[in-house]
Formats: sequence, structure tokens, C-alpha cells
Amino acid sequence: MKQIINNCLDHIIDEYYCSVHVCTKFLIFKMKLNQKEKPPIIWLNASVFVITFAVAVIGTPTWAWYHGFDWAQIGMLVFGFTFSGLSITAGYHRLWSHKTYEAHPVLKFILVLGGAYALQNSVLHWSADHRAHHRHVDNNALDPYSAGRGFWFSHIGWMLREYQKHCHSDYNNCRDLQKDKIVMWQHKYYLPLVLLMNIGVPIVFSLVHGDLWGAIILIGFARLVLNHHTTFFINSLAHIWGTRPYTKSNSARDNGFLAFLTFGEGYHNFHHIFENDYRNGIYWWQFDPTKWLIRLGSWLGLTKKLRVTPENRIEKVRATMLLKSIQTHLRANPNTTHRIQLLEQEYQALVTRMSDYYEAKKRLINLKKQNLLKKYDRAILLQQLQILKSEFHQQKRNWHNLTASYA
Ligand SMILES: [Zn+2]
Ligand SMILES: [Zn+2]
Repeated sequence: MKQIINNCLDHIIDEYYCSVHVCTKFLIFKMKLNQKEKPPIIWLNASVFVITFAVAVIGTPTWAWYHGFDWAQIGMLVFGFTFSGLSITAGYHRLWSHKTYEAHPVLKFILVLGGAYALQNSVLHWSADHRAHHRHVDNNALDPYSAGRGFWFSHIGWMLREYQKHCHSDYNNCRDLQKDKIVMWQHKYYLPLVLLMNIGVPIVFSLVHGDLWGAIILIGFARLVLNHHTTFFINSLAHIWGTRPYTKSNSARDNGFLAFLTFGEGYHNFHHIFENDYRNGIYWWQFDPTKWLIRLGSWLGLTKKLRVTPENRIEKVRATMLLKSIQTHLRANPNTTHRIQLLEQEYQALVTRMSDYYEAKKRLINLKKQNLLKKYDRAILLQQLQILKSEFHQQKRNWHNLTASYA
């Protein structure tokens, strides 16, 4: 009996060591494979991110403790953060990457300087990456910062290794930008402009205000790190955290908190479906300072041809998403056929009223533009439009009440 137990134990131990041995070999093989798969580190990028982050995180509280910062320095930090942040959102993103409006050369010049201050590569390079992101969103092979590869990769990892070596200087998707003299000037002199802005601004500020090292730490390093990581959140968190009221065909999310940190870019689900709209937050209560800046620019003659998505398209997409989501929810439960039918009827009625109202509105605007409206016709058409509008709003209320009761 004792012999049998010993034999069994020997067998178990052999198996155990064999498994451990196989597992260890497998892990070593996997590590080697991963090491082989991972492209080389871009030491310049890695050093910039590590050094700036370390100085900001360690240097700022240390300097605050021993020397303190005054309100002028804090004000300059807010100004520098806002200037560099808006240059990316209003300039790099909505002006150049998506062409959602046109800008006066003076504004373009200010925006390329702010972009160099934000240290996120040239307009041309940034836009090439961003257009590829929109075109191939969530495709791990073609989206340069695909959220499908995880938070770290989409946030910063994609810039730390030579993932894009094969297409690093491929600007074929930005041929239009290669005709923009200000874009090409910034691309050519990008490094001197980066040094001028990132070193020059804190030095000039300290010449007026004093405390050179305080300015370098707060307005140079801390401002840059804040700007980097809030922008990077759009590629990482805005594809992970939030709601999807417009489309579920990609991972982009709407997130009001991220919009607050990123000058309005947090309404990323809307942006990924209506990328040519100069707004990201379309409602008055949504925080989108980039939209406000572009709109303000149009009053000052600095921006023009602001592109907006027709309201009916936006409303229809939203209603369709809601319909699909409630349909899925109801189908998962028994005896819901009648409720699904009712829901679909109300949706159809909404789409019909919506299209009637917006068509009539468009017709009236066109007639006005062509001066084809007589006083009498105008009164009749306006009255018809009012009726269509109230029918549409009534149907919207019905739809809202019904969908709220199903939620
Ligand atoms: Zn975009
Ligand atoms: Zn995105």
C-alpha cells in the first residue's frame, strides 16, 4: 500500500515539475516573442514624456512648498494651458484635420505657435495621424492610436515605440494641408518654434515678473504635462468611458467631464459620426469652449464658413439609436411584441413629422434667399411652418414619454 502511495506521489511530482517546466518554457517563449514583436523604443519621445512628467509631479509641489507661486504665475499657467490647448482643439483638430471652418492667416499663425507650445508634433504630422484614426477607428492594424489595444497604448504607448516606422512621414492623406503655406512653414521650422515657445515664454514672463525657475517649472513643465495628458485622454478615455447616443459602430464616447478638461472635445461619440461639424457639444448647455472660440472668431472676421450638420440628421440618428437600444432591451423579455410595435409606430411618426417640418423650413429659407416670396405667400408659408413645427414638437414629446417609460 505504502509503495502504491509513493509511486502515486512520484507521478504527481513528476507531472507537477513537468507542468512547471512547460509553463516556464512557455512564459520565456512568450516573453521572447513579445520582445521580438515590440518595435524599438523612441528614446527622444520617451525621455521627453518621462522628464517633463517627473519635473511637473516632483518639481511643482517642491517649489510650491519652499518658494510658493503667486497669482500672476497661476494666471499665466491657466493662460498658457488654455492657449496651447485651444490651439490643438480649434487649430490642429477642427481647422486642419477636419476642415470644419476657414480661418484668417493671422489666426492660423497664432494657432501654429500655440501648437508648437503644446509640443504635439507639427500640424501636418498630427493631422495625418488623426485622419488615419478617423478612417480606421478601432482597427488595431491601421488606427495609429486604436483604443482596441488598451488604455496605455491609446493614451501614450503608441508614441513610445516605432509602431509607425513604415508610414512615419507619409502625408498622403493631407495633400490639401501641404498647400497651406503656414502649415508647411510650421512643419519646416517645428523644432526652433518648439524651443522658442517652450523656453522663450517662461523666460520672457520671468523677465517681467521674476522667479525664473518657478516660471520654468510651472509655465514650462507643469503646463506642458497638463496639456499633454488632457489631450491624450481623448484618444484613451474618450474611447472607453461615457455614453454612445449617436453610434455604437465605434468605441468613441460622449463624456461631459472629459469635455470640461479638453475644451469641449469630450463629446467624442458625436464627433466620430459628424466629424465635419465645427461643434462637438451641440447643445447650449454642453461645455465646448472651442466651439465658442470659433463662433467668436466669425464675429471678428477671423473665421468663416463654419460647417454644421443639419439638425434633422442629428435628431434622426439619435432617435434611431434609441429605437435600436430599446428594441434590443424589449426583445430580451417575453411578451413584448405589442410594445415593440407601438415603439416602431411612434418612431415612424417622429421621422415623418421631423422630415415634414425640416423640409418646409428649408423650402422657406431657399425662397427667401431667392427673393421669390410675396408678402401674402410668406404669411401662408409661415403659418404652415408653425403648424408643422407644433406637430413635430408634440410627436417629440410623445416619443420622449414613450421611450422614458420603456427605459
Ligand atoms: Zn477628430
Ligand atoms: Zn477618436
